[in-house]
Amino acid sequence: MKIPGRGPRRGPLAGVAAAGTGVCLTVFACATCGSALTVPLTQVPLPAHAGQHYSHELLGALMEPGTYAVRPYPAGPPWRRWDEVGETEAAARGVYAPVYSLSDGPPGAVAVAPGDVRGTAFIPDRLDGYCYGVDGREGPNLACERCGTPVATRIDDCASWQAVWLEPQAIQLLPAASPPSPPLGWETLRRHRPETPPVELDGSWDPRSEAAVGVALAHLLAASGGACVTVPDGPVAAMFRRALDFMCPPGPSARTLVLGGPGLPAVTAAIALVPQHPQTGEHWAEPGAAAVVSLAWDVWAYLAFHRERRPVPGGGALRDEIHRDDPPPRLPNLMFQPDRDLFLFTLARLPEVGQLAVRAIYDRVNTRYGPLPF
Ligand SMILES: [Zn+2]
Repeated sequence: MKIPGRGPRRGPLAGVAAAGTGVCLTVFACATCGSALTVPLTQVPLPAHAGQHYSHELLGALMEPGTYAVRPYPAGPPWRRWDEVGETEAAARGVYAPVYSLSDGPPGAVAVAPGDVRGTAFIPDRLDGYCYGVDGREGPNLACERCGTPVATRIDDCASWQAVWLEPQAIQLLPAASPPSPPLGWETLRRHRPETPPVELDGSWDPRSEAAVGVALAHLLAASGGACVTVPDGPVAAMFRRALDFMCPPGPSARTLVLGGPGLPAVTAAIALVPQHPQTGEHWAEPGAAAVVSLAWDVWAYLAFHRERRPVPGGGALRDEIHRDDPPPRLPNLMFQPDRDLFLFTLARLPEVGQLAVRAIYDRVNTRYGPLPF
């Protein structure tokens, strides 16, 4: 299957559209018989929480309706243990530090929302799961309804984000019916994309933000070479500082982490924490920064623009309908815990983990179990 490249890259998205990029509608079809397997979809970056395992409950859908994302790395069965694979072969496969096991599954699986799938049927003897649903442990569990070829894996078990993962070797792209349309400009995003606080109704942090920060932390330590990174007081500190203080060796800070992006001052000398475009996957360019680390747009926008409004006792009680129509902002009541597993997963796949200082941090986190600070 050939999918147009849309990997993250740094570069400007001046104005409304960057040259050569566009939002295309795509239909995936069975490679064997040509039957359509999805509704028309547009590509977006793979969410940071795609590989997240969280709690023991049914999670929501990984993908927004009408979108798809490509997982560039192998995932799913069969699995091979680290001592069977060995350091040399692992490095050739882009894994540079010990992990429990490596997937021998194919790279390039395509995630879509279950409601966007068409023309498939469950494969009856592949419907195992842990407890709530199916988890694909036997391989693809959805077949093309017309020809019977296994084409996808439905995941809807506890602790996993619900998705259908299309098998890269079993699908093809149907020609786009319409020309690409330009992606939203950064300024349009800033002004019009509604800000959603990454906080659940019960005051816990949204696990998607914990995943995004876990991944960003890995890139941040790779960028700093394992040296300490200072985080000024403010919203970024609430998400990053505790984990950095735990992981980094004591000593003078090499760098400071500062927000950069549309509507914010230019960053010079520091490491810039910039947004990833939610349609193209491109990162905001920050040419004066020492390095750039990106976060999913929604998490970044919360850090950049959210201003906390804690209720202040007033002179009189507000009527119930005012609370109903204008509820107080959702505020976190727990400490933020970046996703430890995704931090390790990401750092193991960055070549910088070969540097002694970065590897020392990786080993320390990898051999330490417990909730704090992860
Ligand atoms: Zn088919």
